Amino acid sequence: MISIKNSRELTAMRDACRISAQALQYAGEIAKAGMTTGEIDYLIRKFIEKQGAKPSFLGYGGFPGSACLSVNDVVIHGIPGKRVLKDGDILSVDVGAFYNGYHGDNAYTFPIGQVSEDAKKLMDATRESLAKAIEQAVAGNRIGDIGSTVQGYVEERGFSVVRQFVGHGVGTNLHEDPSVPNFGTAGRGPRLLPGMTIAIEPMVNQGTPDVEILADGWTTVTKDRKLSAHFEHTVAITTDGPVILTLP
Ligand code: MG
Repeated sequence: MISIKNSRELTAMRDACRISAQALQYAGEIAKAGMTTGEIDYLIRKFIEKQGAKPSFLGYGGFPGSACLSVNDVVIHGIPGKRVLKDGDILSVDVGAFYNGYHGDNAYTFPIGQVSEDAKKLMDATRESLAKAIEQAVAGNRIGDIGSTVQGYVEERGFSVVRQFVGHGVGTNLHEDPSVPNFGTAGRGPRLLPGMTIAIEPMVNQGTPDVEILADGWTTVTKDRKLSAHFEHTVAITTDGPVILTLP
């Protein structure tokens, strides 16, 4: 069932989303070559807790970190730990905060030091595909308008969209209906209505769209071990158009 939030509920959810966005911005400021993903995760957790919020991901389905920290060929769900960031890595940070009964959810791929031109192109295409998708998050449109926009934009640039993981509704639960795929057909799928809040999150690969989940049950890597990027915003559908809730 797709939940519809009234304006009071949307206002409450804004706080959780703002804290999520601030935590993401903070992660981008602190992430440097030489740090471990475990150190970054610890600092993100402290940051979120200082705002009186809880990290949405910590313990979710047994996930051991406060953020997913996914380096290079790791698409999503990278477990924070001993991995040391190197100059030229790309780091996808996915983080959510739970506050006043609501979750926010957002992600961004940060360059660590000087990254390759190819990595930059991948990150730019993924970030821009999210911006294009958000323009489609308009009442009366359908979920397929979002997915087809991401897919079209990304594939025109020679990249591919992950099929195995998708965006989602978000609100009092971290993952709610509807599913928000990064692929599909315009004009298909559930209709977007004012009061819906969805996490749009293109996961874009340099090579094959196929992914593999490692033995830890979480870490999701590209099958060909090429790079992957991930950008995400929580967006509200309103009568005045799309509103990005995850802004710092
Ligand atoms: Mg998400």
